[in-house]
Amino acid sequence: MLNWLAPSSVSPDDPVRACFVILVRNNELGGIVSTISQIESTFNNKFKYPYIFLNDEEFTPEFVDTTSALTTSVTRYGKLDQQMWGYPSYINQTRAAENRHELAKQGVPYADSESYRHMCRFQSGFFFRHPLLDEFDYYWRLEPDVDYYCQLDYDVFKYMRNNGKKYGFNIAFREFMATVPSLWGTIEAFKRDYPEVMEHLPVKEDSLWKFVTNDNGETYNSCHFWTNFEIASLAVWRSNDYLKLFSYLDRSGGFFYERWGDAPVHSIAATMLLRKDEFHFFNDVGYRHTAYQHCPVEEEFRSKCRCDPQNNFDLHFQGYSLDEQIYVDE
Ligand code: GDP
Ligand code: MN
Repeated sequence: MLNWLAPSSVSPDDPVRACFVILVRNNELGGIVSTISQIESTFNNKFKYPYIFLNDEEFTPEFVDTTSALTTSVTRYGKLDQQMWGYPSYINQTRAAENRHELAKQGVPYADSESYRHMCRFQSGFFFRHPLLDEFDYYWRLEPDVDYYCQLDYDVFKYMRNNGKKYGFNIAFREFMATVPSLWGTIEAFKRDYPEVMEHLPVKEDSLWKFVTNDNGETYNSCHFWTNFEIASLAVWRSNDYLKLFSYLDRSGGFFYERWGDAPVHSIAATMLLRKDEFHFFNDVGYRHTAYQHCPVEEEFRSKCRCDPQNNFDLHFQGYSLDEQIYVDE
C-alpha cells in the first residue's frame, strides 16, 4: 500500500495504480463494446489500464469472452453481494414502494425503479470498497453507449496524481429536485452531528462550495457533476470522513425513500471534502452521454476530436451547464 506515503516520495514517472470501473448489465453488452472500443482507440491502447466489470448478477460467458477480446489489458469481473446491492435491514420496504409510486406521479426519470436506487446507492457508497478495486488508487468510470471523441495522448491518471487532482469531471448538470428533497438537510444535520469531521475539512473560501449553493448554504441549488464520466481518486471515497458521511446518508433512508442520485451525493461530498484546486475539468475529453455532449471548442482540438464543437453542452445549455461557471470564481 502506497497510500500513506507523502506525494514527494512518488516520482512523476512512477506507474499509477488505476483502472476503469464499469457497472453494467449482461444485456448492455453491445453498448459496452462500443464504449470500450472508443476508449481503446483514443487512450488505452497506449496506456493499458485494466478494466474492472461489476454486476449485481453473474456475467455470462458471452459477456466475458466478448469484452476481454476487445483489449490486451487485464479484464476482471465481479459480482456484488447483498450488502453492496440490497436493502439494509432498517429500510421499510413498504414505505419505499409507496414513495416510488408517489414520485412516479411527478414524471421524474426512474421514479418507479427499484434497481436504479440500488445502483445509485452502490455508486455512492460501495464501488470503491469492492475487493477488485483494492489494489487501485484512481479510477475512470465508464458506461455503456457513451461516446469518447478525442485522442488523448497523455496519461490522465498521471496527470491527476502529479498535479494533486482528486476529482475530474466533464459535464455538470442540474438535478430534478423532487429526487433529493431531504438530501441537503441531511448533509446539514451531518455537519451539526460531526463537528470533529467538519473542523479539519477545507474552509469555505478554499472550496467549491458555491457550486452547490446559491444562498450561502440555505439550500441545494441542484448542481452536480455528471458521474457517468468520472476520473477520480479512490482515497476521497475511502476516507473516514466520506465513509461517515455516506453511512449517515444511508441510515437516513433517502436512497430508497427518495431517489438520491450518486451524482448529487458525490458532488456535494466532493465540495465538502476537497479544495477547489483538487478538481479538474477535463475539457480535452470529448464525451457524449444520452443527448448531451461536451466537445472542446478550441482550434487545437479539431484535428484530435471527431465531434462537432457547435454541439456542445457548455455553449447551448447556458444556465444548465456549469463547466465554465465554476471557474469564474477562481
Ligand atoms: P443514467 O445514466 O442515470 O440514465 O443510468 P444508467 O441506466 O445509464 O445506469 C448507470 C450505470 O449503472 C450504467 O453503467 C448501467 O449499465 C449501470 N446499471 C444501472 N442499473 C443497473 C442494474 O440493475 N444492474 C447492473 N449490473 N448495472 C446497472
Ligand atoms: Mn447512463
